[in-house]
Amino acid sequence: FFIALASSMTQSALLTPHNANIRAQFPVLKQILDGYPLCYLDTAATSQKPQIVLDAMAQYYTNDNANVHRAAHQLSARATLSYEKVRDQLQHFLKAKHREEIIFTHGTTESINLVAFGLTAQLTAGDVILIDSAAHHANIVPWQELAKRTGAVIKPIPLDKHCRLDINAYQALLALKPKIVALCHISNALGTVNPVAQLVQLAKAQGAITLVDGAQAAAHLTLDMTDIDCDFYVFSGHKMYGPTGVGVLYGRFDVLDSLAPLLTGGEMIKRVSFEATEFGSLPNRLEAGTPPIAEVIGLGAAITFLQTELTGQVQAYEAELLNYLQCQLRALGEVHLYGAFDDNIGVVAFNLADEHHQDVGILLDQQGIAVRCGHHCAMPLMHSLNLKGCCRASIGIYTNKDDIDHFITALASVKDLLL
Ligand code: PLP
Repeated sequence: FFIALASSMTQSALLTPHNANIRAQFPVLKQILDGYPLCYLDTAATSQKPQIVLDAMAQYYTNDNANVHRAAHQLSARATLSYEKVRDQLQHFLKAKHREEIIFTHGTTESINLVAFGLTAQLTAGDVILIDSAAHHANIVPWQELAKRTGAVIKPIPLDKHCRLDINAYQALLALKPKIVALCHISNALGTVNPVAQLVQLAKAQGAITLVDGAQAAAHLTLDMTDIDCDFYVFSGHKMYGPTGVGVLYGRFDVLDSLAPLLTGGEMIKRVSFEATEFGSLPNRLEAGTPPIAEVIGLGAAITFLQTELTGQVQAYEAELLNYLQCQLRALGEVHLYGAFDDNIGVVAFNLADEHHQDVGILLDQQGIAVRCGHHCAMPLMHSLNLKGCCRASIGIYTNKDDIDHFITALASVKDLLL
């Protein structure tokens, strides 16, 4: 069945990729590695950057380089304008109600730490924090630290046998009236998509504060905070075609405003004396110090890129391509696939028979294929799958059928070599 499906797909829509002009915008993809064209299937770790992002950052450093907010000179005014324009872009991108609900951080990890630290005074011993069992370590460890500081109790939300969040178990845990519910939108290890709007609604009905980790979602989905309705939504620029070193914390205004700042110092204050310091208002109150200005400007360009290129047709093409990848892997034989296969986005997790994932990754690299191997910063999930690790092939807006075919041919040769 899968072979038939795969070959019928080969002859249909996938022959006409919708993304040839998109791919041409990514200079890094044009390179040859050891005689093989680079086949980049590690977008879930970090995406490649389109020319528009590279140009925006070069333009800032070439013409406008200055610190934001403080100086009276023209360069600073231009830098501030460009920086603050990205906040407006993000408000629009996320359909947030207020621009002050957008906080720039250095990435998803910092965004979650900022929330977990900022809520410390609002928790007491015995409070319950629910965490998605498929969560990335960035959405586990900061909550554990919060629990250590306050005496709160962490409870993982179990997954069902298809590695989807177990809705019945979730509802049973919500009866404990958790203070915080931390979810992932798309699992970075398996690509499983959570129905976050529904999960948030259930959590809110029990009075919980909700955080959704959207690190893997921002590059693939259209995001709408009025629809998801969570208190906090976090993601990283570098996974959505923007630069490293910049991330976003969206927070519903009143909940965001109740956070104690993790970082204090310049930029976030209204008045300072040795007797007392008065903090400024949002968003500055949570953006202490010089922000990653060039990176924020690069992120703005990435958002422009996504808003132009990530059409419904391209999203459908990505879904088709992932389906093709799964079918081809199954058709190859001796491949174990992990997770649910009908609703994952961007990611396929697999092992080749009993071979070590690292060996497979190294042999693929020798043929120009970039995949990730290991626990994918999701050790609890790997443990529940009884795995030490696996290989992960992940796709982006620039991936095409040639990439998948090249990868499958290379994996077939690795299989011949090892099995
Ligand atoms: N959450 C998820 C789901 C991720 O995939 C990642 C990165 O792999 C992170 C959090 C951490 O992101 P960053 O390292 O950019 O802070």
